[in-house]
Amino acid sequence: MTNPHTVPSIRMNSQTTIPQLGFGVYLLEPSKTQGATEEALELGYRHIDTASIYGNESEVGAAIAASGVNRDELFITSKLWNSDQGTSTTGAAFDRSLDKLGLGYVDLYLIHWPAPALSKVGETWAVLERLFDEGRTRAIGVSNFRPIDLEQLIAKSSIVPAVNQIELHPLFQQRELQEENRKHGILTQAWGPLGQGLYDLSSLTSVSDCATEYGKTPQQVVLRWHVQEQRVVFPKSAHRPRLAENFDIFDFELTPEQIAAISQEDKGQRGGPDPAELN
Ligand code: NAD
Repeated sequence: MTNPHTVPSIRMNSQTTIPQLGFGVYLLEPSKTQGATEEALELGYRHIDTASIYGNESEVGAAIAASGVNRDELFITSKLWNSDQGTSTTGAAFDRSLDKLGLGYVDLYLIHWPAPALSKVGETWAVLERLFDEGRTRAIGVSNFRPIDLEQLIAKSSIVPAVNQIELHPLFQQRELQEENRKHGILTQAWGPLGQGLYDLSSLTSVSDCATEYGKTPQQVVLRWHVQEQRVVFPKSAHRPRLAENFDIFDFELTPEQIAAISQEDKGQRGGPDPAELN
């Protein structure tokens, strides 16, 4: 087992802290989720990123229960799906997530997508603020929000989102959106941190050069780049060797020049949906 304390944490505007490295469970079949999550917890992961739409919150909850890890050592995130946005539906959706996870609170609860055609973010956020005030989630945030979505939300609410979880990897870095997050005091979480396996990270010279120099894999170099850039990541894998590999990124350090070289790789190449269009 790796020491969970090797993972650095960042303080969010909620005043709670989040481990910079976690385990994401998107596209993990329910039948594989409990086993993989138990392995991640055994290896030292203490941060798990799930969502109601992933359909595996119950299995994440079962793994947490089986692991014997104290609740206060864990950081658990879930997300509200688009069809559950709205004053009358958000609270019940949150209750269902908590129930499936078997927890009394989550550490972070997110609006999964802005879904602009629904125009329900304002009323939905008001429910999240109430859940936060009640202590049922220790922080609230958003995902896939564009600058316009952030501005509209912040103008009409009292709590600034703690995080904005956005697609972010070497070929799609969203620098302007990262800057917008920073300007508002919002932490950037990078989803698809490895590019979701859609392209070969070793084909990027800036990455493969570092991999050779430090004796690490391209995936480890990219995760290290995210962490040194003060982002939060939760790569997904169902395989123990890869789970271990992705955790083993705290014994080397990229130079500022190496970080800058990877940051130059951006091609604006989105892999997932466009938030303007997903409703
Ligand atoms: P990812 O970038 O983590 O890539 C996952 C792919 O990379 C898988 O195919 C996996 O087998 C492979 N991989 C993982 N580790 C590897 C290694 N060491 N070597 C070689 N290949 C490796 O993509 P993701 O799973 O889509 O994103 C991570 C997490 O982000 C998700 O699990 C989920 O929690 C979250 N997410 C959020 C949103 C959102 O809309 N908020 C969308 C997608 C994902």
